Amino acid sequence: MQQLAIFGGTFDPIHWGHLLIAETALHQTAIEKVIWTPSFQPPHKTAALFEHRLAMLQIATKDNSAFTVSQIEAKSRGNSYAINTLIDLSACYPNTRWYWIVGLDTFQTLPRWYRGQELAQMCNWLIAPRFLSGETIPQSELICKQVKQQLQKQSVTIHWQLLHTPLVGISSSLIRQFCREGQSIRYLVPEEVRSYMTFHGLYTRSI
Ligand code: ATP
Repeated sequence: MQQLAIFGGTFDPIHWGHLLIAETALHQTAIEKVIWTPSFQPPHKTAALFEHRLAMLQIATKDNSAFTVSQIEAKSRGNSYAINTLIDLSACYPNTRWYWIVGLDTFQTLPRWYRGQELAQMCNWLIAPRFLSGETIPQSELICKQVKQQLQKQSVTIHWQLLHTPLVGISSSLIRQFCREGQSIRYLVPEEVRSYMTFHGLYTRSI
């Protein structure tokens, strides 16, 4: 049985934090591949065009043969829900043990995801530590245990593993903010991604 990980997100745009997490997951677990799945239409956000986010993902991941970018969420053309992504990918990759890569902030919201209880049991969760707002000391382990307990109360058992990675304070929203303010984003995203953004004038205006 192969072991694959899904890395879902808006990737608006992809940054070094995302890349570090995916690489860490490859090295600290038995997964063979990371399937990056950009949301076509994130449920609670407005984002740059899917085509731009996809292109930047492809540029950033092209040198790593264990990374692949999936357009599966573009096929539904509606809201992107994680459970549908997993069901659709399972049809493409049968006989697979699934993992889901997620930042701590996102993992914390898992009990409230659309069909989250079902999804929670269908894969193993690989969690990247991240500072949460108002936090001064990262409480990753504690928060993961709280999520597990919360789900347990709903008779849902999950398997999770914390990734050991340095905390990276980069976020896509910070990059978009820097672009709007005309600040440098060099060293926050891969250089080719930065060129793509400059060429297409992405994120320079507030929407
Ligand atoms: P935004 O700032 O627009 O909310 P983001 O930087 O969180 O974006 P997403 O594409 O929404 O990026 O994130 C995809 C996944 O990667 C989420 O699970 C998120 O928690 C995780 N993630 C993103 N950046 C980091 C980071 N620096 N450290 C840990 N996890 C991260």
